[in-house]
Amino acid sequence: MRTYTIRRFMPSQHQIEVDMVRHQIEQADCGFAARLALNAQVGDTINIAGPGTIAPINRDADWFFMVADMTALPALSAKIKTLPRDAKGYAVIQLDTAEDAQPLDAPAGMEIIWLTTPTLAETVKAQPWLAGQVSVWCACEFESMRALRQYFRNDRDVEREFIYISSYWKNGVTEEGHKVIKREDAERQC
Ligand SMILES: Cc1cc2nc3c(=O)[nH]c(=O)nc-3n(C[C@H](O)[C@H](O)[C@H](O)COP(=O)(O)OP(=O)(O)OC[C@H]3O[C@@H](n4cnc5c(N)ncnc54)[C@H](O)[C@@H]3O)c2cc1C
Repeated sequence: MRTYTIRRFMPSQHQIEVDMVRHQIEQADCGFAARLALNAQVGDTINIAGPGTIAPINRDADWFFMVADMTALPALSAKIKTLPRDAKGYAVIQLDTAEDAQPLDAPAGMEIIWLTTPTLAETVKAQPWLAGQVSVWCACEFESMRALRQYFRNDRDVEREFIYISSYWKNGVTEEGHKVIKREDAERQC
């Protein structure tokens, strides 16, 4: 089983839209989901379970800090359009290539920073910290998530109720292994 974000739901057409990161070029190295994305044909069937629980972004804040890599770009796209229209802050998004950028329906006060270098945590830390209460929404690779959790929770003292932070995958580990590591990490955080 693999977890994906519903990018768009079109009930009248009985369709959902999913954006899948093609994380390996050589099909032989792919995971199940990437292989499905590469080889899917009209008429193929897949099993779908869900939707899972959707963690809300805490909107009771003066500004917002959103962070994503490409696996979380669909989720960030859905979340950013639910922010108040006068929301301000940053959305830092790491892509594979500049062509992977997508139009976002974001409030004008949200500065969108697209990266094509593997410097997600460094770029987040380099942004000037704004005044007032921040609300953080962050989803990305496991090690980047840990670096960013350290930054927001410990270096910037953001209280847990104002942070949603999650790893969506782990470099070098399949989803089965990632789930185990994620559970162990969550237990250590309690
Ligand atoms: C809540 C949630 C929502 C998600 N939404 C999306 C989404 O909308 N779109 C999306 O593309 N992904 C999304 N993901 C991430 C996706 O579930 C994982 O990337 C998944 O592991 C891919 O499965 P796979 O079978 O292709 O690769 P796996 O079999 O899990 O892994 C095979 C190999 O590929 C590598 N690998 C796996 N994922 C990546 C990656 N993203 N980049 C580089 N290398 C990788 C691993 O290191 C491993 O060696 C989401 C995850 C969560 C938890």
